[in-house]
Amino acid sequence: MRLFLGVLVFINVVFALEFSVKENGKSLDDNNTVLILGGIQGDEPGGFHAASLLLSDYNITKGKIIVAPNLAFESIIARNRGNFGDLNRKFAHIDESDPDFHTIERIKKLILDPEVNMVVNLHDGSGFYRPHYESKDKNPNRWGNTSIIDQSEVNSTKYADLESIAKEAVENINKALVKEEHQYHLKNTKTQESNDKEMLKALTYFVVSNHKAAFANEASKNLPTHLRVYYHLLAVEYYLKKANIEFSRTFDLTPNGVYRAIEKPLEVRLFNDKILLYLDQPANTISYMPFPVNQSLNYEASNEITAVIPRTNFFSVNYGNRLQTRIYPEYFEFSNALDTVELIVDGKNIQTNFAQKITVKESFEVPPIVGVRVNVIGFDKGMDESGIKISKNQMQSRYSLDKKRKIYRVEFYELKNANLEDQILARTHASKEIKDAKIPVNAIEKAKQKDKFIGMILVEFQ
Ligand SMILES: [Zn+2]
Repeated sequence: MRLFLGVLVFINVVFALEFSVKENGKSLDDNNTVLILGGIQGDEPGGFHAASLLLSDYNITKGKIIVAPNLAFESIIARNRGNFGDLNRKFAHIDESDPDFHTIERIKKLILDPEVNMVVNLHDGSGFYRPHYESKDKNPNRWGNTSIIDQSEVNSTKYADLESIAKEAVENINKALVKEEHQYHLKNTKTQESNDKEMLKALTYFVVSNHKAAFANEASKNLPTHLRVYYHLLAVEYYLKKANIEFSRTFDLTPNGVYRAIEKPLEVRLFNDKILLYLDQPANTISYMPFPVNQSLNYEASNEITAVIPRTNFFSVNYGNRLQTRIYPEYFEFSNALDTVELIVDGKNIQTNFAQKITVKESFEVPPIVGVRVNVIGFDKGMDESGIKISKNQMQSRYSLDKKRKIYRVEFYELKNANLEDQILARTHASKEIKDAKIPVNAIEKAKQKDKFIGMILVEFQ
């Protein structure tokens, strides 16, 4: 395990993953935007999952939030606290030669944005804080389940009374405890007054030094991830209310509702909507996935803490600190000859774009297309599998995308000499692009001999 982690760290250095910044809502011209940060330490999944949900599953209906859910993104994926040391100790001073220099500059810029006047940083801390010693896990030196401030008051135009705001946050959270022992407390680190060497270097102190309100919320590492997220979101929702920000969300703020929101299937769209990876209990490996020789890796994921990462001879799909699957590519030239395809699903004709998942009750069939062949992965009837009615019992289940053996790939290829390429329509997309992904040298030569990949859809048998 140690060795393996070492390898991951090395590869991550090569393929720098930058943290995401996304906005949700519209600012009301009152400089009341709240900045919410997660994942400043890679080993704190409660914080980065909570922050990620604020983008994927919240709709801000009044006011605006800016969220950077995955500050130490490489460390999150590598499952360590900080690839280059603790990111949260580099705000007072950082050398330009420090690999985190650029990351710290980006975070500071977000904090200094004039429209931001409140910053909430989400952490997972050890044990449960208690003002008096109760046990090894419950004592004044623990950080878990606390609202943390650096000082009672901040010299700012808004939210100056940090202590009373944080106190109210604690009271609010304590109304919704799952267990009495989870009770929240206020912790004032009195960073400047006590000349706390560590806290003086931290993010929240940088915020208050710049005359803005900063709150850190710590959820206990003794809790399972979804309960940490539950407590984080209770805190965040209180702070949003304080800032007059309104929202709706796709789930109930209950331990169960949060669990389901975190565990829902991931969607990753590759290469400008050519391929959908619908990851619902995905298979450990996915082989022969068409990858292009003529473009770099790019993808869009259904949340900000999912990444597709080039490894030695495969690509890993990671969701926060959890590996989802390994993709082994086969390289093709890509063609944009078709944008949509026709399908007969349970006797009904439908039209669909690529990178979609189609639900099938009994059977499906792809009507033949001139110059195009269809390859249904896990169905073995030859080179072109169009014009055949296919039902689930004809599929070889080991080719399914998922462990439930329900989801299969339908791939479309332009026949080598068909020359449909003239119909190309270039499509542009905002998505992550990783230029360093290495394509094997011989893959480019081999691809020239093959049909061109046009796109893929998924069929899910019910
Ligand atoms: Zn932390």
